[in-house]
Amino acid sequence: MKIIINPAVTWCKGYKKALLMHLHDEKVQSVPLSVIEVIEYIATCKKTNYQDILIRFSAHADVVKSYLDFLRHNKWLLEVPSFVAYQPISIEPSPVLKIRNFYIEISENTRLDWFENIAKWLRKHRATHSLIVSFANDSKQAYENASDIFNSAKRHGFNQCGILLPKHLKNENVYFGIRHNLDFFLAQPNSDYKTEINGVEVITLPNDIVHKGSHLQSNLYSCRHNKLGTYRADNIFINKNKYVYPHPFDLYLFGKAENSLDLSNVINSPKTKSYFSMSKDKIDKCRICEYRLSCTNSLWNRQDKDILSSAPNNCTYDPTEGVWHDTTVTSTTCKL
Ligand code: SF4
Repeated sequence: MKIIINPAVTWCKGYKKALLMHLHDEKVQSVPLSVIEVIEYIATCKKTNYQDILIRFSAHADVVKSYLDFLRHNKWLLEVPSFVAYQPISIEPSPVLKIRNFYIEISENTRLDWFENIAKWLRKHRATHSLIVSFANDSKQAYENASDIFNSAKRHGFNQCGILLPKHLKNENVYFGIRHNLDFFLAQPNSDYKTEINGVEVITLPNDIVHKGSHLQSNLYSCRHNKLGTYRADNIFINKNKYVYPHPFDLYLFGKAENSLDLSNVINSPKTKSYFSMSKDKIDKCRICEYRLSCTNSLWNRQDKDILSSAPNNCTYDPTEGVWHDTTVTSTTCKL
């Protein structure tokens, strides 16, 4: 029997520790860097068995034995007959940029023909599948505009239409008129909305505060996107004045879209491209953190809103010590 690394397992080294990630079970396990030394040895010597590994690391045989037993017990390592071949899962990011969610802010002046021009272009080029609306004000005209826009969005193939709820919704009944095309409401954290409004589901956005790693996961999507890819930056937001931003929570100005040609230029501009290609290995604090491939902390949680590589403003982990704290760690002592 030979020992192999479970094909669904990958790992990421940090400054002080390393992280094992199971891409099928979405499980993460923090381990000392020395565990990864053993794992990397197994990855390079394809025919290694248990005894071979103990001989290779004989100077630390007791420690390495405890590592191996732990890793086998938790299925990070598998023992298989020597003729079994395996192929680790690839985490290379996809080169295709896809905007998944299109947010717009609707006012009494938002025109249907403008929306349709933009929406058709997005559907044609970027495979956007959700439309999420916020309201600039509580006017009756704005709600009528939203109703027309939802009808049009469904006709143009948007899978889902939703409303981003303001913190204080004055009159829930205003949504009655647009309910038949509405799939969900998105509620901001700390709001006390119920699970549904007039029969439409309310989805509460996760609170983005990083707390002791509870937001971590390691599926293939997060690994691919946090490595070199899009940092989960897969939204665009156009406000009532037609200014384009990455998200309603991140007002990092990309440009203005009077029509689809403008939007095309904005999306292909260097500024927008650098936002969409931002990844945690371009941020000093995150670059040395072993959680960088499984961390889903959003890019908009950065200290300096004008600088994309600015350190996160809400992370409680100190990668230079390998310790989660109770309060935010905004600077590290590591000389980078
Ligand atoms: S925000 Fe950065 S430093 Fe904090 S856990 Fe995520 S990758 Fe690590």
